[in-house]
Amino acid sequence: MPSLSDPVISISGLGKKTSDRLNQIGIYTLEHLLFHLPNRYQDKTNITPLSSAKVGEEVLLELSIDRIEEAHSRQRQLLCYLSDDKNKKILLRFFHITQYQKQAFVRGELIQCFGEMKIGRQGLEMHHPEYRLISQKQTPLLDKTLTPIYPLFAGVTQTKMKQWVNNALEILKNTVIDDYFEKITNNTMPSFKDSLFLLHHPEKGEDLSKIENFVHIALQRLIIEELAAQQLSLLKIKAARKTDSCNIFSINNSLTDQLLHSLEFQLTEAQSRCIEEINQDISSPQPMLRLLQGDVGSGKTIVSVFALLQAVSNNFQTAVMAPTEILARQHLQSFSNYLNHLGIKVAFLLGSQNTEERTSQLNLIESGEAQVVIGTHVLFQENVSFHNLALVIIDEQHKFGVHQRLSLAQKANKTPHQLVMTATPIPRSLTMSAYADLDTSVIDELPPGRQKIKTVALSNNRRDELIEKIKQISNEGRQIYWVCTLIEESEALRAESAENTLNYLSSNLKGIRVVMIHGRLTKSEKEEIMNDFKEGRIDLLVATTVIEVGVNVPNASLMIVENAERLGLAQLHQLRGRVGRGAEKSACVLMYQSPLSESAKQRLDILRQSHDGFMIAEKDLELRGPGEILGTQQTGIADMKIANIVRDAYLLKQAGYYSSKLLEANEASQNKLISRWIDEDKVDYFNA
Ligand code: ADP
Ligand code: MG
Repeated sequence: MPSLSDPVISISGLGKKTSDRLNQIGIYTLEHLLFHLPNRYQDKTNITPLSSAKVGEEVLLELSIDRIEEAHSRQRQLLCYLSDDKNKKILLRFFHITQYQKQAFVRGELIQCFGEMKIGRQGLEMHHPEYRLISQKQTPLLDKTLTPIYPLFAGVTQTKMKQWVNNALEILKNTVIDDYFEKITNNTMPSFKDSLFLLHHPEKGEDLSKIENFVHIALQRLIIEELAAQQLSLLKIKAARKTDSCNIFSINNSLTDQLLHSLEFQLTEAQSRCIEEINQDISSPQPMLRLLQGDVGSGKTIVSVFALLQAVSNNFQTAVMAPTEILARQHLQSFSNYLNHLGIKVAFLLGSQNTEERTSQLNLIESGEAQVVIGTHVLFQENVSFHNLALVIIDEQHKFGVHQRLSLAQKANKTPHQLVMTATPIPRSLTMSAYADLDTSVIDELPPGRQKIKTVALSNNRRDELIEKIKQISNEGRQIYWVCTLIEESEALRAESAENTLNYLSSNLKGIRVVMIHGRLTKSEKEEIMNDFKEGRIDLLVATTVIEVGVNVPNASLMIVENAERLGLAQLHQLRGRVGRGAEKSACVLMYQSPLSESAKQRLDILRQSHDGFMIAEKDLELRGPGEILGTQQTGIADMKIANIVRDAYLLKQAGYYSSKLLEANEASQNKLISRWIDEDKVDYFNA
């Protein structure tokens, strides 16, 4: 019998490639598909008369075809004019359409179409509507329940995603859910099953704004369960760690003094305090697990080097892990700057190395000749054996995988000390409740003399003015980022819109090398582009995807963000942090779609006025009212399936109540819940 724990590949018609992709976004089993919730719904439960359809709204129309026309302006288009019985008209515009589809449009046919009402030059319009030719007996769009719209990723259509989820829902229907969480919440919240059915297929009349604002009880129930499972696993780790033995370093400052003398700058007070806190940890009999938070440019690297030097003085190895190859290379460079003249040997491990390179590096690591090893997640792999690993430094940037970092810890005989660095400022209230297993140090002060990044807000329809600015910056030999934030669901629309921006920029900026980086490129293609940008072979980088947070391109001095009002404050702050890394004066332009809502206006103002990441993070938390749902999935502080620690902070207390109850359950019940919410590769440490 099929079960919810079956892998996604068990779905007929779903192949290896798609399964791999799903795995990448944390969907391994059918149960995980259930957690892939719609990000909105379409209401196709009734047909709206054209006379009452409002601009800006999505509606289902049923009208007859008047006239078909082909337009050959900048782009081929098919224009299909419809009218109702009172001769009120609307134009359907299609940009991508096959000959076969075109032929089906015949004057007089009845058509159902669903899309957003827009105003064009000739009046009402709909672009790329979903449609069915009713008089040709195509299945009508009119539906009984609301239609879920799922977040998609490259190569997957809405139809397929819907099919897979429905497949999982069908199995859920026949599964008895009998777990400890259901038991302790008994009747106070909707059941696991009911919640999921409701969220995937809400009935007509369901309060959608509550779902879309993440405050619906069905959603809250799942969020609380996930947060409780996360907390439970943290509590278990913490309890287990207390009994672990570690290497106790004796603090010796001969190397650190040498380093200090060679520096061109003085440590900030905040840096010295963090170094002191770390020294306390590593010289004590319990293994360190410390989060080092500091805004971009606050100088986290040097702080971690101080810890590393203590490991070296005590004759132990240190591993430094970065999330991508390009960041690993960057780390190799910046760490080597400090370590080379102290005579410290650094090994370097990447997935892309050839066998020969790799073997020689592995030998350096195994023999202990290399005191420091820098690399990507390949450091986790089986064939890597360390001589005597005692300190692990992880630069996670925005990817906050609490559970992942622990498997590297298994590479050592005794539990190594761990220092996790993050540039994502996490409000104190959250660190206290959600990262309870970690100690934290905060670098809350930037080195003196840093130039502030001039931040301005500009309406989208003034984007022509930016052309001159870009030319000027480029003439000065400096580089520019242009970030498109697009929210279209369909890959085709998204690509089209980004393509338009690219064309617009390329044709208005002759002689400037403009390149686009987007989600459909492979990881190595993306890295290549980032590298070209870094090396100055690209002047203007147009990005449709979240570009590497940690990539350091000091020569980039202008950041332009389109539709900035759609992003969270913290994310905008991160984007802005990509510039202002060199000596040059830098600027950030936040473009917005007018009219701005009051809260969006307030948020952009905060960014214009403040550069303090922690203050911005706190404000973000305060201001992220229920209306601000866009961009929340991308804040990415934690790698969770449904919950979002920032958005759902108000549920942490409740989750805490349940997690302490869960701690009383037996091992099997606990693990059942943990494995539902935390991916297998991240729970291995329980058996270690
Ligand atoms: P991040 O916290 O973003 O990782 P880095 O460690 O890369 O920051 O440091 C950013 C830059 O600031 C580096 O060039 C580093 O040499 C410099 N830096 C670090 N600490 C200080 C300081 N106390 N005074 C002046 N410059 C510093
Ligand atoms: Mg850094």
